[in-house]
Amino acid sequence: MDLIRICNQASDKETGGILVGRYSKDLKTAVVSQLTGPPADSQGFLSSFRRGVAGLQSLLDQYWSGSSSTYYLGEWHYHPSHNASPSTVDIAQMKAIANDSNYFCPEPILLIVAKSDSGGFAYSANVFFRSGGYLSLQQKETVL
Ligand SMILES: [Zn+2]
Repeated sequence: MDLIRICNQASDKETGGILVGRYSKDLKTAVVSQLTGPPADSQGFLSSFRRGVAGLQSLLDQYWSGSSSTYYLGEWHYHPSHNASPSTVDIAQMKAIANDSNYFCPEPILLIVAKSDSGGFAYSANVFFRSGGYLSLQQKETVL
């Protein structure tokens, strides 16, 4: 999946999907190997994104049974609003995922892609904890 192509296609609406990969043996590094586009039942709006679930379980089953046994690591979404920081809704959703045993993911990652002021892209990579706290790495701009 080409992240930037998906964001450009979404234009002025939010879009997103999930991150798939694995942790290093010492569990200190998450290696994201795949990201999905928006499932067909997703809804993107100007300032919110509701990720659907259609087809995700069978996709995750395929990744898990594949040769590298990868699994759900978190979410990504696109902010056309020029702000790559997690919103209060994003924080609440990631806290809910961290605390939902169905996800088997107590420290989910949220990657946010945003438009930058000069037409490039800005990113943030955020790791959430069950408390709702999180760590954030931000890259202000990448000009393509
Ligand atoms: Zn958001």
